[in-house]
Order: sequence, then structure tokens, then C-alpha cells
Amino acid sequence: MDTEYKTTDDLFTCQLCGQCCKGFGGTYVTGRDIVDICAYITADPDTFVRSYCDMAGSRPVLTQGPDGHCVFFDARKQCTIHPVKPRMCRAWPFIETLVANPENWDAMASACPGMKPLVPPRDIMRIVSEEIEKRRVSCPAKL
Ligand code: SF4
Ligand code: SF4
Repeated sequence: MDTEYKTTDDLFTCQLCGQCCKGFGGTYVTGRDIVDICAYITADPDTFVRSYCDMAGSRPVLTQGPDGHCVFFDARKQCTIHPVKPRMCRAWPFIETLVANPENWDAMASACPGMKPLVPPRDIMRIVSEEIEKRRVSCPAKL
């Protein structure tokens, strides 16, 4: 393969800066996310949605704390629900829309210092597609 970009590690290394855990934009939680997080923090789903979520239309998104960070962000420990963090957080930055629109990669990279900019679109499309397929095979219920 005639490219320097072969795997996800060639495109992204999280710098643990916490920027993606800040600001309203909405970390959507799926029904499956809610079940997993509730088991982890010992809460029931209704209480969880009331206490830890806001509604964006009909969909629950994680609430932000007073400093604008996600309610589950801790400056020292980073994500306090890391093992069960929502699908959106686990997938970043290898998200489905990049397969059709790889040009969005650089806009995302401008806000995420872990993403390598100026990667050829064909490499982004291939590596993101492979990563999505890996997630589908390894844990279809969480897709
Ligand atoms: S903004 Fe990017 S580098 Fe920073 S914590 Fe989030 S994923 Fe990691
Ligand atoms: S759930 Fe964790 S990774 Fe996702 S936004 Fe909140 S603190 Fe960040």
C-alpha cells in the first residue's frame, strides 16, 4: 500500500486535552449507552435522564457542568465513565459521516489536537471504513 497512513494510529493520538468534552453540542446517548452507564454508576434509567441529561429535541444529551464540560468530565481523571462512555465518544474521530465526506476531517482536526491534519481523503475514507467495520464485528449491539 503506497501511503504513509495505514491504521487509525497513523491518523490520531488522543492528547487528553478534554476539549471534546466541553461545550454544548451534544453528546447524544443511545438507549444502549443509558443501560451501560446506569449499570456502571448504579442508577436507574429515568433518574439518569433526569439527573444527567438535557433534551435536544427528543434525544437526551449529557448535561454540562458549570465550567462547560460534560457532567462526567473530571480534569484529573478525564472521563469518569470511560469504560462505558457513549457511542459518540468511543467512536471519535472515526465517525460514519467521514466515509462520505472525508473533507470534514480537517475541520474536526482544527478543534482536536489529536487528529493529524492534511491526510489524503482516500486514506481517511479507507481507514474510517475499516474502523467502523471492526466496531460492527466486535460489538454489533453497541453500534
Ligand atoms: S479534543 Fe481530541 S485530543 Fe483532545 S481529548 Fe478530545 S479526542 Fe483527545
Ligand atoms: S462521556 Fe466522557 S468522553 Fe464523553 S463527553 Fe463526557 S467526559 Fe467526555
